[in-house]
Amino acid sequence: MREARRYPEKLKDVFDTHAHLYDSRFEENGMTPEMILRNAASSGVTRILIPADNETTSLAACEFVRKYDGTEGVELFCSVGVHPHEASSYSPEVEERLLDMIKRKDELKIRAIGEIGLDYYYDLSPRDVQKEVYRRQLELAYENDMPIILHERDATGDSIDILRGLYKEGRLRENPGVCHCCTCSPEIARELVKMGFYIGFDGPLTFKNNKKTPSILENVPDDRIVIETDSPYLTPEPNRGLTNEPANVVWVADKIASLRGRTTEEIIGLTTENAMRLYELI
Ligand SMILES: [Zn+2]
Repeated sequence: MREARRYPEKLKDVFDTHAHLYDSRFEENGMTPEMILRNAASSGVTRILIPADNETTSLAACEFVRKYDGTEGVELFCSVGVHPHEASSYSPEVEERLLDMIKRKDELKIRAIGEIGLDYYYDLSPRDVQKEVYRRQLELAYENDMPIILHERDATGDSIDILRGLYKEGRLRENPGVCHCCTCSPEIARELVKMGFYIGFDGPLTFKNNKKTPSILENVPDDRIVIETDSPYLTPEPNRGLTNEPANVVWVADKIASLRGRTTEEIIGLTTENAMRLYELI
């Protein structure tokens, strides 16, 4: 198996804002949680947020944090919520159990509601169900005073309409959350920033033929950029083809640095501070 390339410089205090560490793909590839966290620590990653996509993975994310928080000096956080792919699984009973977890958010280290949103690319749940479940969880986030992790693909129009409506009614928080793996237009990215959103960048930014993501980045000010891996998916260059892991988030920072004419250390510094504000850790 090809070895992952490690970042040559000594970096510190890196925050991977989005990594599905409970995903079975790690185990299938012989990667234990201890290994993943050791690799993360050796790349300078000291904080990771583990997002959920349904009730089962919400429990799995909380359990991963309970078991491994602090391993190799890496601090772990998580989110709970139902992804648009899984919108059909949402029910009043599921919501009840999510709320039970949210009530214990400090103890369970839950820092956001997500991933929630709309995905018309895969259409794995009917669109009207996706919209209803998205609205419901945006409401939950507002009522429980928590940021969201937004997943949106090929559904920008409907998603932004829902957000605009809430923004107008004053039912969107001052820090509404993060647009993770942002794929909308640069104009919509600017509008999201205006509403208070952070914008998450990951592997696709480093892909050679991707012109779109760099054009989104150009429209996002320094104080709203966060970096993520979406592990075990979306592995950045130069490790594309291998299972993604939080250690690779430094390559995303490296790419942002080269696009902005800054040093990687500077980008790490500002993205970590942004992530701390996003997940309300400072
Ligand atoms: Zn994800």
